[in-house]
Amino acid sequence: MEENKTVKQTNFIREIIDEHLKTNKYEGKVHTRFPPEPNGYLHIGHAKSICLNFGIAEDYNGLCNLRFDDTNPAKEDVEYVDSIREDIRWLGFDWGDREYFASDYFDKLYEYAVELIKKGKAYVDHLSPDEIREYRGTPTQPGKNSPYRERTVEENLELFEKMKNGEFNEGDCILRAKIDMSSPNINMRDPAIYRIKKATHHRTGDKWVIYPMYDFAHGLSDSIEGITHSLCTLEFENHRPLYDWFLDELNVFHPQQIEFARLNLTFTVLSKRKLLKLVNEKYVDGWDDPRMPTISGFRRRGYTPESIRNFADKIGVAKRDSVVDFALLEHSIREDLNKRAQRVMGVLNPLKITITNYPKNQTEELEAINNPEDETMGKRLVPFSRELYIERDDFQETPHRKFHRLAPGREVRLRYAYIIKCEEVIKDEQGNVIELLCSYDPETKSGSPNANRKVKGTIHWVSAHHAIDAEVRLYDRLFSEEFPEADKEKDFTEFINPNSLEILKNCKVEPFLKDAKPGDRVQFERKGYFCVDTKSADENNLVFNRTVTLRDSWQKLLKKG
Ligand code: ATP
Ligand code: MG
Repeated sequence: MEENKTVKQTNFIREIIDEHLKTNKYEGKVHTRFPPEPNGYLHIGHAKSICLNFGIAEDYNGLCNLRFDDTNPAKEDVEYVDSIREDIRWLGFDWGDREYFASDYFDKLYEYAVELIKKGKAYVDHLSPDEIREYRGTPTQPGKNSPYRERTVEENLELFEKMKNGEFNEGDCILRAKIDMSSPNINMRDPAIYRIKKATHHRTGDKWVIYPMYDFAHGLSDSIEGITHSLCTLEFENHRPLYDWFLDELNVFHPQQIEFARLNLTFTVLSKRKLLKLVNEKYVDGWDDPRMPTISGFRRRGYTPESIRNFADKIGVAKRDSVVDFALLEHSIREDLNKRAQRVMGVLNPLKITITNYPKNQTEELEAINNPEDETMGKRLVPFSRELYIERDDFQETPHRKFHRLAPGREVRLRYAYIIKCEEVIKDEQGNVIELLCSYDPETKSGSPNANRKVKGTIHWVSAHHAIDAEVRLYDRLFSEEFPEADKEKDFTEFINPNSLEILKNCKVEPFLKDAKPGDRVQFERKGYFCVDTKSADENNLVFNRTVTLRDSWQKLLKKG
């Protein structure tokens, strides 16, 4: 492991755990879990929860389970189960052999429901869904009791058995907890605990036609697994009394639920339902589209697991909801890639130049530094010849006042190579610049007498003959609004940025990249960090995704502040 692992900041959750350790509440044990519902791919919000749950287990020498909360067969799928496993592993966490499914507990949960009925604490209700809603009341008005609430235990047992045996249709009846229809907490107004659903479950097949509600299954699954600290997001704070009620009525092991604020990010939506909509309605190219805030999207985009974990550490956990600036996430990525990414030269919008005083058919190899942040990454040789490509916007025919790169009669330094001067501009019939004729000063390369001669600009380049063709995909924010969900009158899809993807097909990159593999990350000098695409790239087709630009708006904010 890393030698100087930074000491994790304490937070209110750790303080509660420390207190429990002091009072020996759980016999010194810390056992957490990450409980996704397999109804979509994991997003960066889930990453926060994963880092928190696995991180706490790691730091307290405890354990963290992976449990799939698969209580809704209609929306769940093995594709999601597989992707969730892959994403957690990729983030660098390991749940050992502790992989569980709420569906493993369906028999046990059924028994618990029967036990509640026997205690007179649950009943089968035949009100229609509309009537149930009506009877429930509102936050300011108490609800009223269902006419079916006083059924006898025997009758309830028989009806619940019939529900289980498929003798009713979906919606005919549900099993409800018998708590308090006038409770100020709506979750306590006789919530549903089992409903009929004649759907095939991805694990239990057609064994069941009744399924436990999430609220019933979740807390009890934690209890079955002996979870000591059940960490969840704030919207479950109002559900805690209900979970406690189930645990107390059934007199089973009682985990401590602790709520924390979910992660919200600017320019982003983080709800599986909304992300699914983006996928289904083809606003993006699948769950792992590099513009998606999913872990698989970020992976394909070139983010590193370390940078996501650092980000999670930086944002910490709090009890109050807040929104994190997307720039902070990008800052974490840059910080990591800056230290590790191989630097290379790549020209995204090529303009050809010919160095007229450089010998025809000559090639020389110039030394370039692989990463100035890390000497051990060494150097490489970059071929230089008479015909090169430079970036089209590194040339201006009539340069504006602050432009210090190439222009007619002006000089510029080619990175790791010579100073050149633009002697002549060649245009096509429409007047477009198609080539520059330049001269070079042979005394200006590294080790030569005028190696240190200063000119105002330095630009990157590739040798035309040696360059490799590549496609480059540039991404912008998927939403053009900072808070795409703020306007409740409008659908969030109305704020999708129409220019979130720009594809450049004629890019030229240095030959060093001939062996680049899908997933490899590099910095194209001056252009940003890039990652070889894992889906569309192959031996004949080099495709790069831009991970992030080099401009760090977060760093700028820090300096200003
Ligand atoms: P979504 O609202 O995106 O659909 P969810 O809460 O329904 O998410 P689950 O699969 O139930 O998704 O979530 C698994 C775990 O991840 C839960 O413990 C949940 O609290 C946590 N989680 C989900 N979204 C976030 C978020 N934005 N920030 C922090 N934790 C989150
Ligand atoms: Mg959920």
